[in-house]
Amino acid sequence: MSDKQRDTKLVTAGRRKEWTHGIVNPPVYRASTCLFDSYAEMRERVKDPSARHLFYGRKGTPTQWALEDAITELENGEGTMLFPSGVAAVNAAILACVKTGDHILITDSAYDPTRSFANGFLKKMGITTEYYDPTIGANIESLIKDNTAMILVESPGSLTFEVQDLPAISAVAKRHNILIVSDSTWGTPLYFPALELGADISVHACTKYIGGHSDIMLGSATANHRMFKRLRQTAYSLGQTVSADDAALGLRGLRTLGVRLKQHEENALLIAKWLQDHPLIHEVRHPALETSPGHDIWSRDFTGSTGLFSIILKYGDYPDTAHLVDEMKYFKMGFSWGGYESLILPSDPESARSASKWSSPGPLLRLHIGLEDTDDLMKDLEAGLQRYSDAVKP
Ligand SMILES: *Cc1c(COP(=O)(O)O)cnc(C)c1O
Repeated sequence: MSDKQRDTKLVTAGRRKEWTHGIVNPPVYRASTCLFDSYAEMRERVKDPSARHLFYGRKGTPTQWALEDAITELENGEGTMLFPSGVAAVNAAILACVKTGDHILITDSAYDPTRSFANGFLKKMGITTEYYDPTIGANIESLIKDNTAMILVESPGSLTFEVQDLPAISAVAKRHNILIVSDSTWGTPLYFPALELGADISVHACTKYIGGHSDIMLGSATANHRMFKRLRQTAYSLGQTVSADDAALGLRGLRTLGVRLKQHEENALLIAKWLQDHPLIHEVRHPALETSPGHDIWSRDFTGSTGLFSIILKYGDYPDTAHLVDEMKYFKMGFSWGGYESLILPSDPESARSASKWSSPGPLLRLHIGLEDTDDLMKDLEAGLQRYSDAVKP
């Protein structure tokens, strides 16, 4: 898809006159019970609960359907299910692929709650998880067993930013009839065509860039033809549903995703390149920088970069980062990202790794570059780094 086609799709995708009644956005349909006028109508509407008939609030209304269809179109998938959080979407996507007795492979760079789900819930269900080095590529073949059912990729990892070779992993998976779930949150549907690169289900924490304003929790999972029915059945079985209010906010965020991302991208690249030359910085992990692991794969497979990346300091330890972060003016500390505001978060990858070793001379801090003026942001970072080097001796 060219940039122009993408921008047009962002504006028009999921808009249907029978849902919007001629206004721009679908109304917020708050619903549980839907009323039927006759026995015959009730029978007709419940016949196929997956058809877009108003039937019961849990199965959605035009507000949720408009967002589902918009994401499906951008992802080029068969269909999308919405979830009350990104975590719920990742976990339902995994559950759609596995059964008791299966073996699954998860990237060592995966989002921490994905690991917790595998190590706790899935283990209890009799599913064994093996973690793999995110840079493994086609060598993932050596980890495949007779009962391997699914591979989870997260590219890039949202803390350490290794870009994964999804096409190579997918080629192996296809040969062994294994499913691929991609946590595609960093790249968004605009910059990372996960389904086209070989994933069967592409998940987004819409809480991040799609919502874009730090005011909703929302997740989506979009599947290809092979997996959509299983995904939908899994979501229905788990009773997953999203409020019409949150779906409307998600849709509103989606419409401006293109312009917001361009600005996040530009601001982040400028600051990442500037930080690269800073005397206190050991390494900048940003997929669009040549020194970042998997940069060549990023250039091949992604159509852009977003506002989230990490820096690794040359010396010191995690408690020392208080000198840096405590008095920041614009970079506030907080979980999540993808809103319009800048964030900073010291976060140690070491405890959340088992297949690949993490070592760094100093602490890692994850930055989300927001839409503020970049001069203000750089001054804020410069002052923070100065406080750090004044207080911490190598
Ligand atoms: C934030 C995030 C999630 C979880 O999304 P929530 O909406 O916070 O549950 C999943 N994967 C990645 C990569 C994320 O950054």
